[in-house]
Amino acid sequence: MPHVIIIGAGFAGLSAASFMAKAGWKVTVLEKNDQPGGRARQWKTDGFTFDMGPSWYWMPDVFERFFNQFGKSVSDYYELDRLDPSYQVVWPTGKMDIPAGLPALKDLFESIEPGAANALQQFMDEASYKYKVGMHKLVHKPGQSLTEFIDWDLMRGVFKLDVFTSMRAHVHKFFKDPQLRLLMEFPVIFLGAMAENTPALYSLMNYADVVGGTWYPRGGMYSIVNAMYQLAQEQGVEFHFNEEVKEITLQHSRVTAVNTDKATYIADAVIGGADYHHIETQLLPASHRSYSDAYWDSRVMAPSCLLYFVGLNRKLSNIHHHTLFFDTPFESHAKEIYQDPAWPTDPLFYMSAVSVTDPGSAPPGCENLFLLIPVAAGLKDDSPEIREHYFNVLMDRLEKKLGQPVRDAVIVKRSFAHRDFEQDYHSFKGNAYGLANTLKQTAILKPSCRSKKVNNLFYTGQLTVPGPGVPPSLISGELVAKEVIRNF
Ligand SMILES: Cc1cc2nc3c(=O)[nH]c(=O)nc-3n(C[C@H](O)[C@H](O)[C@H](O)COP(=O)(O)OP(=O)(O)OC[C@H]3O[C@@H](n4cnc5c(N)ncnc54)[C@H](O)[C@@H]3O)c2cc1C
Repeated sequence: MPHVIIIGAGFAGLSAASFMAKAGWKVTVLEKNDQPGGRARQWKTDGFTFDMGPSWYWMPDVFERFFNQFGKSVSDYYELDRLDPSYQVVWPTGKMDIPAGLPALKDLFESIEPGAANALQQFMDEASYKYKVGMHKLVHKPGQSLTEFIDWDLMRGVFKLDVFTSMRAHVHKFFKDPQLRLLMEFPVIFLGAMAENTPALYSLMNYADVVGGTWYPRGGMYSIVNAMYQLAQEQGVEFHFNEEVKEITLQHSRVTAVNTDKATYIADAVIGGADYHHIETQLLPASHRSYSDAYWDSRVMAPSCLLYFVGLNRKLSNIHHHTLFFDTPFESHAKEIYQDPAWPTDPLFYMSAVSVTDPGSAPPGCENLFLLIPVAAGLKDDSPEIREHYFNVLMDRLEKKLGQPVRDAVIVKRSFAHRDFEQDYHSFKGNAYGLANTLKQTAILKPSCRSKKVNNLFYTGQLTVPGPGVPPSLISGELVAKEVIRNF
C-alpha cells in the first residue's frame, strides 16, 4: 500500500486525507497543533465555545458534494439552519437588515434605488451562470497547464464570465447608490483583494450570498471540522497531533521521509497542507524550492485579521448573528490594507454573535462575540498596546452603534493577530486568508499544487488552487489528491 504523508489538518489537509484513503492509500496526517481544523480551530473557556476562524457558511452545495463523494451527506454529521436576515449592515446613516433570498432583497433594493430590483435580477442571472461554470468547472482545474482550459463551454462563455472586467466596474454598471454598490462588493472581501483588482467573474460570490444563502451549522463552524475529521477516520486515516514537521528528507529529487520533532515517516508521496511558503522555505533545502524569495515577496497576500474572542456576562439587545460595521469610509481602510499597509485609522469591522442563534455557545444569559478587523498582512509591530487600542475603538463603536453598554459586561477577552497566525499556523506574513484572488494570481498563475523540483511533493490549501475560503479548501484537497493519484 503506498503511503502518503499529509502535513497539516486544516480543511484542505482533511479533505485530501479522505480522498487519498478512499483511493486505497495509507494516509498519515501530521499536525503541529493539538486539534484538527487549522485556522478554523475551536477555543473553549469558562463555558464559552469560540470558532477561531471562519464564521460564514456559504456554498452549502460544495459541502454536500464533498460528503456525497464518500456516500454520505452533510446531514449525517451536522444540521444546518439558514439565517434570515442573512446579516445586518450598520451604515453611517443607520442599520439595514439584508433579508434571505432574492425576492426580498429585490424589494429592499427597489426601496433604495428605483429600478434596482430589475438590475439585481439581471446581475444575479449573470452571476448564476458564473457560479455554475466557476464552481462546477473552473475551480476543479489543477492549474498545471493552459490546456486544461480548452473546453467548449468555457471558450463559448468566456465573455459572459467577465474575467477581464473588474468587480468594481461590473457593480457600477448595475447600481448607482453607494450603499448598494458597497453591498454588492462586500463578498469579494472573502477573496482577499479590492473590488477593482478582482475579476468580475467573482460576482459568483454574490450568487452564493443571495441565492445560496448564509447558513449556520448547529454547534458552530467547528461542526464541519468534526465531521471531516470523523469521515477521514472512517476512511482509515491516521492522525498525529502535537507533531510538527521539521524537515523533508530528499534523495534524487524525491521525498523519502518526513521528519517531525518526534519521529521519521517514510513517504511515497507528501501533500503539504500547511502554508506553502512555510513548507518551501522552512522544510525544504534551497535547491529544491520551486519559488524564490523575490517571488513570494511579490505575491499579493490576502489580509491578516485582528480578532477578539469576547464573552459577555449578559445578553445584548437587538443584535444579529452577523453584523458588518460599514459606518466608516471603506476606501481609506481598503488602502491601508492593500496599497499602503498600515494599522487602520478608522476601521470597518465585523461582529459575529453566534449565541444569538446557538445558546450552547455561551453560558446561560451570556453572549459570545467574535470581532474582526481586516488588517494588512506583514505589519511588523503587532503589539499588546496596539491590540488594546483597537479593542477600545471597537468597544466605543459598539456601544455607540448598539446604543447600550458593552464594555462592563466583558468577562472573557482574547485577541489574535499576526504574531499568533505566524506562531500557530506558520502563516506567511501573518496572513489570515492565504493568497488574494487577483487576476494575476488565478489558476495556472497560482503557486503550483505540484512541486516543480520534487517529484512526489504536492501542495494543497489556501495558497494554491483554487484559493482562500472553506469551500475552496475542500476542493483544493480533492484536486491535489487526484493529482497525486494521476501521477502514480
Ligand atoms: C479569521 C478568519 C476568518 C475566516 N472567515 C471565513 C469565512 O467566514 N468563510 C470561509 O469560507 N472562509 C473563511 N476564512 C478562510 C478559511 O478559514 C481558510 O481559507 C481555510 O480554513 C484554510 O484552510 P487550509 O487547510 O488551507 O489551511 P489551515 O487551516 O491553515 O491548515 C494548515 C494546517 O497546517 C498546520 N501546520 C503548519 N505548519 C505545520 C508543520 N510544520 N507541521 C505540521 N503541521 C503544520 C497548521 O497548524 C494548520 O492546522 C477565514 C479565515 C480566518 C483566519
